Amino acid sequence: MVTTFDHGGGVRSVAVPIPDNPLGHTLVYVVDTDRGPVLVDTGWDDPASWDTLVAGLTACGTAVPEVYGVVITHHHPDHHGLSARVREASGAWVAMHAADAAIVRRTRGTRPERWFTYMAAKLTAAGAPEQHVAPLRTARGRRLAGLSPALPDREIVPGELLDLPGRRLRAIWTPGHTPGHVCLHLEEEHPAQLPGHGRLFSGDHLLPRITPHIGLYEDPDDATVTDPLGDYLDSLERIGRLAPAEVLPAHQHTFTDASGRVRELLDHHEERLAGLLALLAEPLTPWQLAEHMEWNRPWTEIPYGSRNIAVSEAESHLRRLVKQGRAEAVAGSEPVAYVAV
Ligand SMILES: [Zn+2]
Ligand SMILES: [Zn+2]
Repeated sequence: MVTTFDHGGGVRSVAVPIPDNPLGHTLVYVVDTDRGPVLVDTGWDDPASWDTLVAGLTACGTAVPEVYGVVITHHHPDHHGLSARVREASGAWVAMHAADAAIVRRTRGTRPERWFTYMAAKLTAAGAPEQHVAPLRTARGRRLAGLSPALPDREIVPGELLDLPGRRLRAIWTPGHTPGHVCLHLEEEHPAQLPGHGRLFSGDHLLPRITPHIGLYEDPDDATVTDPLGDYLDSLERIGRLAPAEVLPAHQHTFTDASGRVRELLDHHEERLAGLLALLAEPLTPWQLAEHMEWNRPWTEIPYGSRNIAVSEAESHLRRLVKQGRAEAVAGSEPVAYVAV
């Protein structure tokens, strides 16, 4: 069973399943061009997902060998996973923003041992208890999923039109969820004449019913203090100003009123920052802050891997508060604790 949808104006989508994931599927968009279809994202690298993509393209009246190019919104495996197989079967180019392409290169070149060592050090510095960090020290040699993602062969340059003969698809850099996340703006009249400016493929940046994970940009080789949440909020405003007639996200479903959704998300994050500031009336490490934060279930029920993601999210919020001058590190604390100013 394959679900495809015709969005009109030479744009279709295929729902490609993500195995064992509550998100369910990635919407792979198929954009007709004069040289053959161009895909926006490809889906998770799994045999059943691949079969769905193949069947989906057939249902769209085309086939994998016809694909002319692949535009990747960001490097995550539910978006970039099948790019290598698509390229192998079609000779298509694969394009990605340089910042995410750098992550792909690093992932391919980093041994799992180095990654576990880095994560263990990072979690210890964030105040994680020893029983949480210990498994990472014995995880050496374990295979990690998505370890050899395809190296892109083209760079997506912010502000430039992509190589889609007969179409106008412009790259909008929207860092935050990843450092090289892009949205793609189809600068054409909406097929149903909805008011607004064209259509926007929003990847994970702007989704109708969930907020994307904003953590730290994990890089074992780079000690730069980045501010991913600040990047994300700026990127949201950029999309709000664009005012597309319709948003075509990579998960869930399409929607209109992008500016309204942007406002909701900006409000949501401001509320969340204010809530965290209240918690920081007493000094807390990032780990302690994560324990106190509100999640979709009690902290004790959050599985191991999701706790790491939660701590990363706590840290990105702390970075933002520090940068805004609303919180600061407690001098001499080890692991570092933060307190409201
Ligand atoms: Zn993602
Ligand atoms: Zn995703």
